Amino acid sequence: MLLKASQLTMAFGAFKAVDDASVAVNEGEVLGLIGPNGAGKSTFFNCLTGDLHPTSGTVHFEGRDVTRLTPEQRARLGIARTFQVPLTFESMSVLDNVMIGAFLRHHAAAAARDKALEVIGEVGLGGAAEASAKSLGTPGRKRLEIARALASEPKVLLLDEAMAGLTPAEIRAAIDLVRQIHRRGITLVIVEHIMEVIVSLADRVVVFHQGREIARGTPSEVTRNELVIEAYLGKRHAAKLSGGTT
Ligand code: ADP
Ligand code: MG
Repeated sequence: MLLKASQLTMAFGAFKAVDDASVAVNEGEVLGLIGPNGAGKSTFFNCLTGDLHPTSGTVHFEGRDVTRLTPEQRARLGIARTFQVPLTFESMSVLDNVMIGAFLRHHAAAAARDKALEVIGEVGLGGAAEASAKSLGTPGRKRLEIARALASEPKVLLLDEAMAGLTPAEIRAAIDLVRQIHRRGITLVIVEHIMEVIVSLADRVVVFHQGREIARGTPSEVTRNELVIEAYLGKRHAAKLSGGTT
């Protein structure tokens, strides 16, 4: 087991955004995490990465208790993530943004630059290395974030809605990119609303609702699960029919 959350609870006042969640990520797998907006998926990621410290429960990485470690300490151990709302330094170049990730492993600027250029090429932004981050559109920003995460040479990568806002063609390209990252031996946890993405990428899926796990299984198992249809998939279908975006 690579990454393991045990009885994790994140309370904001009396409200539990994550409520007693226990999820283990196996080395080499692609784990999907799904559930309605507000289910606690991003909060759960934040507890895994150290961006939030859980109210109770523990996080273990490679058997080591990392619950009290900072995001940077966890990144050094090999945990990387992208944010649902991309956190890029707008006025800096794509290269400089990605070098921030690379500096975690490389002290010399030249080495960090080489690593950054390598992953920028890998995510398909090779032509834009010198462009400013703000000149990128949504797909470019999503790729930039993935590049910055990859530059830190992670063992596990947490992707929080990395494909939201992309066109169907961009989604297909992003699925290919995620497969390529997985083939490099990086374990993945993906939060995604687009079920086609989950079905085509995830080996296993965990479903959250109101901070709690309500189902787990293969993509085909969870998409047929009555609780999941009731809490999430059915509502999404209904929202789509009425033009909503949930
Ligand atoms: P998801 O990513 O599944 O859509 P989130 O983890 O972003 O859900 O949010 C889960 C719930 O926790 C939501 O109701 C959200 O409003 C609440 N929440 C998230 N962060 C905070 C915070 N810092 N303070 C208070 N409530 C929060
Ligand atoms: Mg979220």
